Amino acid sequence: MNRLRAFLLCAGLAGCASRDAADLILVNGNVYTMDSAQPRAQAIAVDGEWIVAVGSNAEIRRYAGAGTRTVDLDGAHVFPGFNDAHVHIQATGALLTGANLLDVHQAGLFVERIKGAAARLPAGSWITRGDWGAYEQWAAGSAGGPAGGRSAGRFTPSRDLIDSVTPEHPVFVRSFDGAMYLANARALEAAGIDARTRAPQGGTIERDGAGRPTGILRGAAVSLVERVIPPIPFDQRLAQVRAVLQEAREGGVTTIQDLTTAEQLQAYRELQRRGELTARILLRPSLDNVVHTAGLGLTQGFGDHWLRFIGYKAWVDGIMGNSSAMFFRPYDHDPANKGLVRPIMLPEARPGAAMSMTESQKYTDFGVGNLERLLNLAVPTALTPHVHAIGDKGVRLLLDIYERVLTERGLVDSDHRWRVIHAQVVHPNDMRRFGQLRLVAEVNPYHVSDDMRWMEERIGAERSKGAYAFRDLKNAGAVLIFGSDSPGTNAARYYLSPVYGLYAAVTRQTLKGEPAEGWFPAQRLTMEEAIEAYTKTSAWASFEEGIKGTLSVGKLADIAVFDTDLMDVGRSQPARLLEARTLYTVVGGRVVFQRGR
Ligand SMILES: [Zn+2]
Repeated sequence: MNRLRAFLLCAGLAGCASRDAADLILVNGNVYTMDSAQPRAQAIAVDGEWIVAVGSNAEIRRYAGAGTRTVDLDGAHVFPGFNDAHVHIQATGALLTGANLLDVHQAGLFVERIKGAAARLPAGSWITRGDWGAYEQWAAGSAGGPAGGRSAGRFTPSRDLIDSVTPEHPVFVRSFDGAMYLANARALEAAGIDARTRAPQGGTIERDGAGRPTGILRGAAVSLVERVIPPIPFDQRLAQVRAVLQEAREGGVTTIQDLTTAEQLQAYRELQRRGELTARILLRPSLDNVVHTAGLGLTQGFGDHWLRFIGYKAWVDGIMGNSSAMFFRPYDHDPANKGLVRPIMLPEARPGAAMSMTESQKYTDFGVGNLERLLNLAVPTALTPHVHAIGDKGVRLLLDIYERVLTERGLVDSDHRWRVIHAQVVHPNDMRRFGQLRLVAEVNPYHVSDDMRWMEERIGAERSKGAYAFRDLKNAGAVLIFGSDSPGTNAARYYLSPVYGLYAAVTRQTLKGEPAEGWFPAQRLTMEEAIEAYTKTSAWASFEEGIKGTLSVGKLADIAVFDTDLMDVGRSQPARLLEARTLYTVVGGRVVFQRGR
């Protein structure tokens, strides 16, 4: 009940209970509040969007009134709604609604998946990405496969497989490593590619014996099709976001921190208008926008409790998955390669080039002036920089830039909450700088379970000591926050459900429980620390500790209820985390997900 109405009703009635009736009360729960002032409770009362009381069943039942919905949790386990600090909403939605080919490396399944995507998407929409063949060598959850490289006789599809099942959908999907793309007849036609088309320099158009394109394109030929793919229709964008919101609800995730674009923001606004947002979305546009947005007065926290700007995103280097993260020394399995720098680092970067890897490939040494220039423009807006840095050299470059800008601006000891995203492989000499510069390390623990299978083969055991070194980062004084990095790398799917990240952080094992003692087990976190990084500190890092992160009076009623005591099994039998299921997800006092029991 609305507080004012409750007050008026009570004012006219003698003997009326002195407190407001709540709209929702949850009773008989095993509540972990993550609030040190009152760590455990049985029940919660919610009025409108807000938590108004946390306590024993008896205390909370006193908030029940005529209009109160009471949910008996029957001993289920209650946590603050999970706050996923790293989601690619558009890419996740595209994977959920389009063709997911990660585990596909033979013709039958390939055709089936493409056919499925065509059935889901309106006629005329493009079917893209796919990332086929990722598990050809790395079965999901396995402890590893043959060393590096590519297996002989790799699965190579052709348009003949799919033309008949995609008469109304242009298809342009790729292998997980981007080594080849497949276009169907509709896509080739849209791009004007036929038997007479010559491949551009640095590209190939594969042909059959009769000279007819098979649909396989490589290298520079890819852009012939890419440039004719239209922007995603708005309805398709909405469908993608809805699919992500569903996965979030089902996983107990109530806040998602996303890299965002203008088009995505319009989709979120539309879903907000329609009352369909079931997770709060925190926005971080690419840092190259600061040139314009600084002049608009767009500052830290702009927005509302559903959609809010929290930072600018930028990138220093590549990623581990395709060996493009920057290192001081070459990759062990690729002695000519020390990784790549992203174009946003370069003075000649174009707006919008931030995500692109292709233009930077020629650089191994470069000036870092552009990122520093953009960071300086961002400082007066107080919108926090959130910068991706993965290899030991990439991390060093970023720490050097952060140190210069923070020092010159006199901000080192301020409450700035600047973030290093991923901080995946940190040089031992740089660890302490996270504390000295008071930085947030936004990490994705599930990378441990996934990447450990090949990390040592690529960078060796010595460098691996600084990989996903969560304990060392914490000891150094970094504030750790967790995100899923959904939809994962182009070689593995990462889910929004927090149980995967929690499992990885406390076990440092693959999903199959290998190695038994954990990979560099000294870096394991406790379950308490892991849940905190996924709730309390991820709220703090977005300057939202006043309204989120713990189940406390005066905070938003964002609540996740599980059938499993995550805290307890995380300590005693962490494999059970992977079977934990969300029973309820509450966002702003509204039950947005309820599993039939
Ligand atoms: Zn990411």
